[in-house]
Amino acid sequence: MKSRLGFRELVARGADVVKGDVHWSDEHRVYLKAKLKCQSCGHQDPIRGAVQYQLPDGTALSAGQHMGLLPKEAIAQCRSCSARWPVFKGGSTAAIGAGSGAVETIETDRSLVPHRTDPLELDNLDGTSPLKHTVTISQEWAQTVQLDDEKSKVEGGTTSADLPGVGTFGRKAEAAVKSTYSITEGTKKALTREFSFEVPPGTKRVVSFNYAQVWQHEVARLRGADGAVAEIPFKVAVDMTVNVAQHDTTA
Ligand SMILES: [Zn+2]
Repeated sequence: MKSRLGFRELVARGADVVKGDVHWSDEHRVYLKAKLKCQSCGHQDPIRGAVQYQLPDGTALSAGQHMGLLPKEAIAQCRSCSARWPVFKGGSTAAIGAGSGAVETIETDRSLVPHRTDPLELDNLDGTSPLKHTVTISQEWAQTVQLDDEKSKVEGGTTSADLPGVGTFGRKAEAAVKSTYSITEGTKKALTREFSFEVPPGTKRVVSFNYAQVWQHEVARLRGADGAVAEIPFKVAVDMTVNVAQHDTTA
């Protein structure tokens, strides 16, 4: 049967489709285009990715950094064969964060924000045998960074006194965060799942696919030369989830 989701949304897509103007290295672009498949050993994991992201010294990067906050020197390492390659193109990423001090980030909590609900009606009221229906849902979302300017604060130093609010130094810190994290901003991802239903005869089932955006909350901390410390809370969209609610009515 034809579902009310429409066929446009039934096209199966990889879990990690990447579009947009991100300056990936050639190696990483090939890995992404191959739906997260290591080109050395063929290991593939379309949900989690085949690689662990890390710094050049081998320090593993956090989940939040995986999704939206990869530093320009990030290395991808295959979980299976340990092949390593740079994530970003050297030349085009060198300018990112230029002119700003190092930004230290601290992960705080995660939150789930309802995104949208798609209904699906499976009407088997007049049926005499079970109605079987399989649907593939796909929801595209964008990696996004949102600064919480209202909660920004600057402590110490001399620059915090020059203007109300976070002042000049605070605004510099915000600009640093924006430029550091703009690298993957707007990168599109897609959540894709398949669901199967079996509706008994004489039954109408109304299904709701409830999507929610997962946000990782973090605080960026920037230290100025004069001892000032700026703290800027922000959040990064790191995942999309779906849960299914269903309600049956009988004839
Ligand atoms: Zn491999």
